[in-house]
Amino acid sequence: MNITSLQVGPIGTNCYLLCDETAKVCAVVDPGGDADRIAAAIAKSGCTPSVILLTHGHYDHTGGVKGLLERFPGLPVYLNRRDVYPAGDPATQLFPVLPCPLRDYDEGDTVPVGTLTVSVLATPGHSEGSVVLECDDVLFAGDTLFAGSCGRTDLMSGSMHKMLDSLRRLAGLKGNLTVLPGHMEPTDLNCERSTNAYLLQAMRGTSHASDF
Ligand SMILES: [Zn+2]
Repeated sequence: MNITSLQVGPIGTNCYLLCDETAKVCAVVDPGGDADRIAAAIAKSGCTPSVILLTHGHYDHTGGVKGLLERFPGLPVYLNRRDVYPAGDPATQLFPVLPCPLRDYDEGDTVPVGTLTVSVLATPGHSEGSVVLECDDVLFAGDTLFAGSCGRTDLMSGSMHKMLDSLRRLAGLKGNLTVLPGHMEPTDLNCERSTNAYLLQAMRGTSHASDF
């Protein structure tokens, strides 16, 4: 397993290439923009993309989907259905309609990437359809968990109550998993368990935002 990260799109979203070097295939996690640069990174990796995995539906995580599909037609795209809105819905300003059929994934689902297995954890809070993707000892945390922080919950379908429930769940995962967030630098669970005020609040067991 090899992971490459690039900052892409209008606000520097972390896009990750999750590569199975044995099978020479990769997943593209959150192609937020700059499809040209992502395609160049894919070429450099020597892997063929097998799937696009979205941690949630916000534009800054999905902006490169169209350009990638132009280069890799038919690539399956996974997004939880709770972040999908119909054309014309005001929500599509934040959750753009994607130019392809989407595959839904949800809690407990798995997606193969060559010989690797990506497991889906439903982690609503930043948006109702947010997921965290687990592969071996790595979490692709989207905008749920950041180094020292967590994703904002004041946008459409966000919920601090649900965010705390999701953070509590992540804190309870076994081991010191590496956390690759949707923005800013990587971290690991032990560091966040001991220093992240939101995770500490969540681990204290209350899920009432008013307790902050
Ligand atoms: Zn977001």
